[in-house]
Amino acid sequence: MQNQNILSSQNSVLVVGGGIGGIRATLDLAESGRDVILIDKASAIGGLMTQLDRTFPTNNCDLCTISPHLSETGRQQHIKMMAMTRLMDVKGEAGNFTVTLSQAPRHIDLEKCTACGDCYRKFPECVHFAPGLDHRAPTCMRYPQATPYAYAIDMEKCCDIDALKKVCQAGAIVADDAVKTREIQVGAIILSPGAAVFDPSKLDNFSYGIHPDVVTSLEYERILSASGPTNGELVRPSNGQQPKKIAWIQCVGSRGLQKGAASYCSSACCMFSLKEAIVTKERFQQSIETAIFYMDIRTFGKDYEQYRERAENEFGVEFVRSRPHSILKDAQTGDLKITFARDEDGMLQTENFDMAVLSTGFYISEDVRQMAEHVGIALNSHHFAQTEGFSPVSTSRPGIFVCGLFESPKDIPETMVQASAAACMAAKALEPPAEPSENSGDDLPERDVRDEAPNVGVFICDCGLNIGSVIDTQMLAEYARKLPHVTVSEVVGHGCSRESLQRIEKAIQDNGLNRVVIGGCSPRTHETKFQEVLKKAGLNQYLVEIANIREQDTWVHANNPAAAKRKAEKLIGMAVSSVQRAHPLQDHHLSMNKDVLVVGGGVTGMNTALTLADQGFKVFLAEQASELGGLAKNIRRTLEGLDVQAYMKDLAQKTLKHDRIEVITGAIIVDHGGMPGRFTTGMQIAPQMYYRQITHGVTILATGALQNRPQEYLLGQHAAVVTQMEMDGLIEEDPQHIASLQNVVMIQCVGSRCPDNPNCSRICCQSAIKNALRIREINPDARIFVLYRDMRTYGFSEDSYLEARKKGVIFIRYEKDRPPVVKENNQHIEVSFTDPILGKPISILADRLCLSTGLIADDEATEDLAMVFRLQRTHDGYFLEDHIKLRPLDLSVPGFFVAGTAHAPKNIRESIADAQAAAGRAQALLARNQIQLGAAIARVDKDKCAACLVCVRACPFNIPFINAEGYSEIDPAKCHGCGVCAAECPAKAIQLMQFEDDQILAKLDGLFERKVA
Ligand SMILES: Cc1cc2nc3c(=O)[nH]c(=O)nc-3n(C[C@H](O)[C@H](O)[C@H](O)COP(=O)(O)OP(=O)(O)OC[C@H]3O[C@@H](n4cnc5c(N)ncnc54)[C@H](O)[C@@H]3O)c2cc1C
Repeated sequence: MQNQNILSSQNSVLVVGGGIGGIRATLDLAESGRDVILIDKASAIGGLMTQLDRTFPTNNCDLCTISPHLSETGRQQHIKMMAMTRLMDVKGEAGNFTVTLSQAPRHIDLEKCTACGDCYRKFPECVHFAPGLDHRAPTCMRYPQATPYAYAIDMEKCCDIDALKKVCQAGAIVADDAVKTREIQVGAIILSPGAAVFDPSKLDNFSYGIHPDVVTSLEYERILSASGPTNGELVRPSNGQQPKKIAWIQCVGSRGLQKGAASYCSSACCMFSLKEAIVTKERFQQSIETAIFYMDIRTFGKDYEQYRERAENEFGVEFVRSRPHSILKDAQTGDLKITFARDEDGMLQTENFDMAVLSTGFYISEDVRQMAEHVGIALNSHHFAQTEGFSPVSTSRPGIFVCGLFESPKDIPETMVQASAAACMAAKALEPPAEPSENSGDDLPERDVRDEAPNVGVFICDCGLNIGSVIDTQMLAEYARKLPHVTVSEVVGHGCSRESLQRIEKAIQDNGLNRVVIGGCSPRTHETKFQEVLKKAGLNQYLVEIANIREQDTWVHANNPAAAKRKAEKLIGMAVSSVQRAHPLQDHHLSMNKDVLVVGGGVTGMNTALTLADQGFKVFLAEQASELGGLAKNIRRTLEGLDVQAYMKDLAQKTLKHDRIEVITGAIIVDHGGMPGRFTTGMQIAPQMYYRQITHGVTILATGALQNRPQEYLLGQHAAVVTQMEMDGLIEEDPQHIASLQNVVMIQCVGSRCPDNPNCSRICCQSAIKNALRIREINPDARIFVLYRDMRTYGFSEDSYLEARKKGVIFIRYEKDRPPVVKENNQHIEVSFTDPILGKPISILADRLCLSTGLIADDEATEDLAMVFRLQRTHDGYFLEDHIKLRPLDLSVPGFFVAGTAHAPKNIRESIADAQAAAGRAQALLARNQIQLGAAIARVDKDKCAACLVCVRACPFNIPFINAEGYSEIDPAKCHGCGVCAAECPAKAIQLMQFEDDQILAKLDGLFERKVA
């Protein structure tokens, strides 16, 4: 329920744009107790995400990704959402803005609309339409979790208003609704209006708009989507048949050669095309041929290179390095005839496909440009929001911040990071908030059900096609209805949608249910949401049991519906049986320690520490080296030419002088204990190696990565061979030497994208271009050759790639299995390779060979820290985030966050965004004065305890002890709820609440279909 009573004030934040970026920023602010007004010009929030079927890199469905966010947004007490609303004017200054908003008429009373759809069915022409393929779907109801869940009427298209009003049983049509203008006060503003997608009808060579089987990526996503125009069936728009051969054409509207196209790279298109090709094969037929036509495959994100490898090797996606010349209709077959030049020989050839997907890039619409003008912020040459190199989310107007696509083209994980960073920076300008309240205020008083006989309600979620396409959910509900003590059993569509949650709440109240079973997705995704429904309905939140019939059943047994049905029945039977033994439990609370431990004093760690300290938190900054600075200490210039040394010096000074930051150098973390909000970490401090323990509420890891120095291409053996980082220093320190160079060769992907280090190091292409341009500036006559596999100058760094080509830097591609060969030749280095255009071997005598060696995780350090802090790492030694899309900087252990290159390779600007985002995430946690411990803790029955010490020895956290009265005692505030003591206790004197023995045994009863009493 959104809060209509929020008063705008100088302590509130306005978020413009309710896409994934705006939603994340809103949630972060609300979680830390800030009042937020979230506006979106569309009739429902969600932005681009609402149109996507599944999203890389996990290939989960869009609804599952976004729905927790949307309904969370609706629930939060601190949030006021206003759809169909635009920002018209901003007066005042940071901390005190007066903003004029204009809300378009919806002609629907949100309080009355039940979203029954009668108006849409009878008068489809009056209800807002989505563009493109989705002819029949109103924008506001494009997906089942639409927020607000209500239609919007376009009165101008309505010829008979009285008839329309009559059709609405709820009396929700407001014929005379009008534009409403209002002024609000806010202290800060976050702009997250996203970007528009290039319209390929501007191009005359791809038959878009002429041949129906040529679609954009977004339209293809709609075809794949369960809530799309074909209900998730993959069919050719021209004939309704499943396509057998599909082509993806990259860089349509990006990397600028076509009419009206942008010069920059749109950053996300390579990955979303890979995803679409994989999903096509995975969900439909492996035999569907998929080919991606590309110039460079830019899979530069965390583990993205491996995603590409999987597409090629596991799914058989074909990669064709070529920019197609045209797509025309084959007059004989009616298929699409794609003409392209094969990269190997440059010969033109044609190939027929059933469908072509144009991977269209992003641009900033005229509408958003106008908004920027109203707001008074500067835009860059591509009309995206202008930001400075070391302030990634600050616009040119103080107090106004930016995130997501409006800042630069990007994908969801990066949007999420920037959104948290923007939220953090916006909050910095405001007064500290009041502590957020746990209770939404509309929960019913808890009913005492201890003496009642079990009265179980079962609610089956079909999760769109995720569950519903594999098993018959109605039959499952009927099966459940026959189980003992089940009085209500229903299918509830998308169980996590607001409408379904309200339906479950009502069913609990109407039927006096005292136990609830949800058949749906993993409890990890939505358990808290269902627990809240119980609280609202007046039941203890622990009287619900989730049967995971999605991840544990329909996802893994999609190809065997009969077995999936049997398993779903077993899972539901077990849950019904077990929930009857559940009893009301109370959460435990403890006071919060608001101090922060930041591990790692590089550019990320220092920015994290300063951001938090400026907001009043005490920070311990533990650095293992004897001084602050990390890797960035050795970098001279950014690609944009900014002076990194000056920035780092200033940063270190501010950090050292800050009275709320305690810098501990020479710190080696050796032990750790406690829980989020009350951690204790021990460290050994060099050079004396004395032991010190600190207590803190959260931990942020900013331990960075290492410059890779593989033993390749004579690195470390010949003086002329250097890394890009060494070249960066050389250019600054010895310009005379640079001026004397005649031939410089750079080799990309050295020690990256190889078996030892399979991922892309992300920063190397930018580093090579940066150094090539600087060498050229000092020495315009130097011949510079860059030998590469794919140039990955994503986003605006494509401009520098273009500039380097214009200035005569020569880029030559090499194949992975035919890398350049390097030989010593006196003072010089002889580099030999095959030129792909000439098809001939070439040798260059280089004065300098620069190796783009990128980054590798500091495997030893991350292994040690992961062991002490019990964290997970990726296969290549980086810390593993909790959820790559929703919580990219939260670690799986609550209270832990990661930022910068300890997470994955990234540049300084991206690391600073991470630092601000991690600080923001930490702040949201620290905003509470109390830690909620949950109820799953071990409890000892003193009458059964024999004080045998088994639990004392078994507990991995050393919590149980034998007390003076001679039985084992477990402090609920310290217990981690792991259950080891309960499992080990020979006398069965210890029970783990929420997972007690009789509940587990009842589950087995359910499995073997024995009736429970
Ligand atoms: C075809 C396609 C597939 C993709 N697949 C993936 C994927 O699989 N994985 C992935 O990580 N990324 C993917 N992306 C990229 C992803 O969609 C974006 O990174 C993400 O949506 C950006 O979020 P945002 O909040 O910045 O913008 P948006 O999602 O565009 O949201 C912007 C919001 O602002 C609102 N708005 C605009 N102007 C105004 C205004 N003046 N006033 C008020 N509100 C306004 C809009 O209505 C919208 O709701 C894909 C993109 C496309 C086009």
